[in-house]
Amino acid sequence: MSGTQTLSFFESVEKSFDKAAQYTQWNPGVLEQIKACNAVYRMRFPVKMDDGRIEVIEAYRVQHSHHKLPCKGGIRFAAEVNQDEVMALASLMTYKCAIVNVPFGGGKGGIKINPKKYSSFELEKITRRYTAELVKKNFIGPGIDVPAPDYGTGEKEMAWILDTYASIHAGEVDAMACVTGKPVSQGGVRGRKEATGLGVFFGIREVCHIPELMEKVGLTVGVEGKRVVVQGLGNVGYHSALFFSRAGAKIIGLAEYEGSIYNENGLDIDAVVAHRRDTGSILNFPGAKNFAKNTDALEMDCDILIPAALEQVITGENAPRVKARIIGEAANGPLTPEADEEFIRKGTLVIPDMYLNAGGVTVSYFEWLKNLSHVRYGRMEKRFTENLNTHILTQMEELTGKQVTQKEKQFIMHGPDEIDLVHSGLEETMITATQEVMQVWRDNPNIPDMRTAAYVVAINKVATSYAELGIFP
Ligand code: NAD
Repeated sequence: MSGTQTLSFFESVEKSFDKAAQYTQWNPGVLEQIKACNAVYRMRFPVKMDDGRIEVIEAYRVQHSHHKLPCKGGIRFAAEVNQDEVMALASLMTYKCAIVNVPFGGGKGGIKINPKKYSSFELEKITRRYTAELVKKNFIGPGIDVPAPDYGTGEKEMAWILDTYASIHAGEVDAMACVTGKPVSQGGVRGRKEATGLGVFFGIREVCHIPELMEKVGLTVGVEGKRVVVQGLGNVGYHSALFFSRAGAKIIGLAEYEGSIYNENGLDIDAVVAHRRDTGSILNFPGAKNFAKNTDALEMDCDILIPAALEQVITGENAPRVKARIIGEAANGPLTPEADEEFIRKGTLVIPDMYLNAGGVTVSYFEWLKNLSHVRYGRMEKRFTENLNTHILTQMEELTGKQVTQKEKQFIMHGPDEIDLVHSGLEETMITATQEVMQVWRDNPNIPDMRTAAYVVAINKVATSYAELGIFP
């Protein structure tokens, strides 16, 4: 086993940070402060189960950075949850938010349970007690720390968190902003579900439009016609594949845990999902070739590989056999540091997770803003914009004596709905973040990869906060 493999998750994050810090000029004390987790709350609390048993639950909330408030990060329900993992994920949230200009410090929470082993009522009690523990220690609130869904949690848990918080803080007008990822009927925002996959698409599309990078990896500029392989057909993988195929790329390979399928002419993603729903497997999809292992997809000949399932699926062992020219990290941590080194050697472009999968937190930020403003996006301006556009169009038709088609008319006149504004805000965020990371990479030709460039962007932004705000007292 090599030295890097023995590092814990948090130590690996620290290692990547140190690698990038060499390309900055900040005071070592400031760098140490940025790297450290500011507050770690480890708790144990009892919950009475359906059969009358009392179970002691182990849980965490970590606030990595307070340079901007509130802290922000999901809550994970998994049997593997441990302090080191929550600290690592909280640190990544700080850097992720900084890269995509979301004004939050990083946070993360975890409850060490396998949610599949509990009834819905038990899960509700665990979630509510966890929230109450956070309230007791002032670890949750619209301006303090705002959780969101992560692995093993979703809208349902977020609604329970909101209800618990609001019950304790009766009359707090901004209580709804204490958590994001809520159902739309409880203050959630439209577009949150597809946000991460759409952000992955926007991020990779932007990179594919940079001629110097495409020349380096030997691909043509643009997304159209690119051959794409996606591992994992869950929320992130499905939506990434969907937006790529809508943009004219070909999804030639897909993997789920039961195996991989391949068709060089392209796979219809919705038809594959329907086939899996009907047969319980993606295998034996009409016209596609079967592969026994889910890891086979990672080694298929393609232009873009999108791992969107689990962490550490590409290692020093299989990286030499990966043929993709671009790897877009949709999952958190799909590559080990050894795989990273191999791709630097091979000239494969790796677009890093902490920037590429930031669509979820970006749209969570939009949800938080919506909750604080107490109004749905588009409500104030939709009709005004439609009336104005109609007026301009009518004037143009009268002046030119020409008429646009009905279809064009609808498009031009349309005032923005919430979903239009959320998608457009996400697109703007991903484009700006790509340009900022690329600018740092161009300015520092010695930076070996995009991951390090992304870390440099994050460090510079957090350090600038410390430099401008000063150190209290
Ligand atoms: P999900 O549970 O919806 O989907 C994961 C899918 O991967 C499942 O369908 C599962 O069957 C499949 N899978 C598991 N092991 C596999 C394997 N070995 N090979 C092929 N497929 C496999 O989860 P998700 O929300 O799509 O998250 C996927 C990844 O993206 C995770 O790493 C997560 O941390 C990351 N991520 C998610 C979000 C989000 O908004 N959901 C945001 C940022 C990062």
